Parts: sequence; C-alpha cells; structure tokens
Amino acid sequence: MPAVRRPLIAGNWKMNGLRADGLARAGELSSLMPATGQFSFDMLICPPATLIEGVGDAIRGSNLLLGGQDCHFSVNGAHTGDVSAPMLADIGCSHVIVGHSERRADHAEDDAVVQAKAAAVIAAGLIAIVCVGETKDQRKQGETNAVVAGQLAGSVPDNANQENLVLAYEPVWAIGTGLTPTADDVQEVHAMMRAKLAERIGDAGAHETNLLYGGSVKPSNAEELMALADVDGALVGGASLNFNDFWAIAQACPKPA
Ligand code: PEP
Repeated sequence: MPAVRRPLIAGNWKMNGLRADGLARAGELSSLMPATGQFSFDMLICPPATLIEGVGDAIRGSNLLLGGQDCHFSVNGAHTGDVSAPMLADIGCSHVIVGHSERRADHAEDDAVVQAKAAAVIAAGLIAIVCVGETKDQRKQGETNAVVAGQLAGSVPDNANQENLVLAYEPVWAIGTGLTPTADDVQEVHAMMRAKLAERIGDAGAHETNLLYGGSVKPSNAEELMALADVDGALVGGASLNFNDFWAIAQACPKPA
C-alpha cells in the first residue's frame, strides 16, 4: 500500500450489544489506542444507533474514531425511526457506512438510494463508506466485476473525493460465512474498483482513496488480505465484537517502510 493511503480498520457491530458489553468493549479498545500513542492505522467503531453516544463517551481521549451504520438521505423530517447524517455528526461521528448488503437486502436499498445517502453523509462533512459486492450466484456466473463496477457507478455520489469517500468491497457470500475470495480475486476486484473510481474522480484522487475489503476478515487471514496492493484496510463484522480479534486484525496492517 503506498504511504499516501493510511490503513483503516472499521468495525461494524451491526445490531449487537447492550450498554454493558458495548461500552466495555469500547473501553478495552480505548486503552489499546490512547490519544498519546503513535499508530500506523486508523481504527473506527460503528456501534448500533443506541450505543453511538455512549461509545463516543467511552472512547473520548483515545485515537478511536466513531461512525454510524446507516443514515437517511434527508437532513430531517417525517422519517420515523431514521437518523440523519447531521445527527450523526452532532454526536461525534466521523464516518457513516452506506449501502451495506444487509441494508440493500433488508430495506430494498438500490444504488440510487445508496448514492443519495452517501451524498448526504458528505454534505454533512463526514466520510461515506460505500459498500459494494456481488452475490454467490453473480460470482458463479462470472459477473463479479460487472456487478461491482455497476454498483460503484450508481452508488458513488458526484460530491465524492479521496477525502470524503471510502469504498468497501464486501462479497455478499463472504459476509458472516467464514468464506473469503482468494487473495488474487480480492486484488483483482480492488484494482478494477480503483480504475473505475479514477474515471469518476481522477487518477490522483483514486490513488489516494482507501479501499477496504470486508467479508469474514479474522486474525488468521488478515495479514494476507491487508498485504494486497489495493487493499487499504478492512470492514469487519463478527470479529469486531471481540476486541482482541479486532485489535489483532489492525496489527496485521503493513507498517510504513
Ligand atoms: C460486514 O457485515 O460488513 C462484515 C464484513 O461481516 P463479517 O466480518 O462478519 O463477515
């Protein structure tokens, strides 16, 4: 990974955790990553909405970053149960995940919705983590690159640049299954994504944009995945619920030369 890109290890806690365990986990991570320390990676926690503010309090004074798992594309209004990007900014978030495959599947979010959400995140001054990835059938049919390129084209908003966008390649069939693509397959998709992104934001911008891999990342496979030329970190689900595993994944990031 070129020095211009700093690895990002992002934990997506999904709909897991009550106050006691969530805040305890955040506290453990905080003590591993004090504000006074020097780290060669960034580490982000995206708790469920109920825990964002409490986790924010628990990690204050550490190097950890705080994010949301989703937001509405509107700033405010009659959208029962939703939260907006400015609301997430207001409670200390720096990042928001949009377009996770579970949102795309459970809430029928298409690329246009994901793009509007990402645009709203960026307009609120935050960083959008835009997720893309193929299903098992699409991979079997040899459609991976076409599907991912199409999602990227449809989901990345026009106000995106290397400062406010992170892309996450998450094959749907790898999420929570223990399965991962081969390292070569991951690198091929990431290189393709960077090339497609360059068509949108230019070569320099694409070169500086973090591309995360997500899907069954764990301590035992992190080193191989994080060593890939176009992989700049990980979006971690299950393993982010164990602070030792999450920390071990961060340790697998290549150190700057
Ligand atoms: C995710 O849901 O973003 C994810 C990558 O999950 P897991 O690490 O559990 O596969």
